[in-house]
Amino acid sequence: MMTLACLDTLGINTLKDGDTYYSVLTGNTKLMGQGSTFSAQSPIDGVTLSTFNNATPAQLEKVNAELKDAFKVLRTIPAPRRGELVRRIGDEARKYKNELAQVISLEAGKIVPEALGEVQEWIDVCDFAVGQSRMLHGLSIVSERPGHRMMEQWQPLGPVAVITAFNFPMAVWAWNAMLGLVCGDPILLKPSEKAPLCALAMYQIAQNVLADMPDIPKAAVSVMIGDRELGEAIASNTTFPLVSATGSTTMGREVAKTVAGRLGRSLLELGGNNAMIVSDTADLELALRAIVFSAAGTAGQRCTTLRRLITHESIVDGLVERLAKSYGSLPVGNPLIEGNLVGPLIDEGSFNRMQTALDTAKKQGGDIICGGERVTENVPAGGFYVRPAIVRIAHDAPIVHEETFAPILYVLTYRSFDEAIEIQNEVPQGLSSAVFTESMREAEMFMSPAGSDCGIANVNIGTSGAEIGGAFGGEKETGGGRESGSDAWRNYMRRTTNTVNYGGDLPLAQGIVFE
Ligand code: NAD
Repeated sequence: MMTLACLDTLGINTLKDGDTYYSVLTGNTKLMGQGSTFSAQSPIDGVTLSTFNNATPAQLEKVNAELKDAFKVLRTIPAPRRGELVRRIGDEARKYKNELAQVISLEAGKIVPEALGEVQEWIDVCDFAVGQSRMLHGLSIVSERPGHRMMEQWQPLGPVAVITAFNFPMAVWAWNAMLGLVCGDPILLKPSEKAPLCALAMYQIAQNVLADMPDIPKAAVSVMIGDRELGEAIASNTTFPLVSATGSTTMGREVAKTVAGRLGRSLLELGGNNAMIVSDTADLELALRAIVFSAAGTAGQRCTTLRRLITHESIVDGLVERLAKSYGSLPVGNPLIEGNLVGPLIDEGSFNRMQTALDTAKKQGGDIICGGERVTENVPAGGFYVRPAIVRIAHDAPIVHEETFAPILYVLTYRSFDEAIEIQNEVPQGLSSAVFTESMREAEMFMSPAGSDCGIANVNIGTSGAEIGGAFGGEKETGGGRESGSDAWRNYMRRTTNTVNYGGDLPLAQGIVFE
């Protein structure tokens, strides 16, 4: 059924010995993992796509030595030359865009247009990072002392570890790695155990380029494939001044504690519980399209998926009726087949968590308007396909405050706009939010200091599908990190403040006399 030719075209199949893929790859070194064996299945039909042995914490030490050596070289290469590396990686990704998207579809179950969109994010962030490689600017600061001047410089930070989630197996690495490389940092990727072939594909693309750039150490793009134990070892290892981790809030809490325990930096991109306020003034045609894409797209498995629809009570009944109609005609099925819009959940565990959440919602007074059931007709056997669900429920039902990583849309109501904002902000997560309104006052209020408390606050567009040019991330339990555009590059550098005395005296700061 599935086309695995993309693995050959991308050269991924050269990265194995027999049936087992290498788990430790640094450009110079290719090693089998020394830990237990695991395999990754396609969510499309449950078929095993790859087998690995977990890379172990002991193997991390060897890789770290290579990363430290690579850093010594990379930090002295002019940033625009590092930008050239990223430019060529972007070109290589362009060349293999279709094949890369196929690997995403096979491992993460995304429909092809969304998988292509994810590769496009990688390509776009390359372009962004290339420009940034000539703009790693610091400030020039006036000194309070005569004959002195001050300035800030941004310097490479060191090897950066990137731990990723299954649902954006390429984009998250790209946001971090493309900027980290122009900033002069070697990047070690530890991908989700559910999407290891995506990691090998990205590694291979980068190594194709590095083969033609002998001045740049190959270990600048390294990968270790392993489970949570490897993630924990990375978090505790002082080789990494920065650990960028994307995934659940549970994972983030652990990584944050471990990294803080050694006074390192972490950049956390964790769970969301994203809401859209639909005002009684909203353009409902626009809102409807945005709701369906944000809530049901990617089968509800985006960190920015719309999970709470906060609707003015005067329009809720009509809106729910129209939504239910739209949901009823959503094509659910094999994501590789053109026309299908909702692919599978990642695995059985995810399906079970969705069912448990729906049962809990019922017990907490929720009314399931539509969806939630497993789809078994006209879909590949072995995959977990569901109809996206709509549930009317009270805003303060405890289940509404949790992130269930599946397509469940809770419909809540409000009377006053102040109440809508309170409902929007009452959950522990703070990633993405949106308002649909034609009222300038409501729109401005939503984006004001008294408005949405999320990292992303949109007006008249949905909660998902951010552009790479902005800083991406969220507050509260979402972890506070910002990646991709704007000034997120600063995460990957250290700031030095330089004071230079070009005079003949030695005046002390604050006018202190010490003689
Ligand atoms: P997950 O937390 O199960 O795993 C994510 C990664 O963390 C994996 O590589 C895993 O091996 C690793 N890991 C797990 N425990 C660890 C530990 N204690 N120490 C170090 N590493 C550890 O998440 P998932 O199921 O792959 O992804 C779904 C979650 O990710 C959702 O909560 C979603 O909202 C979130 N997510 C957030 C963003 C964002 O940008 N905010 C983006 C994508 C996904």
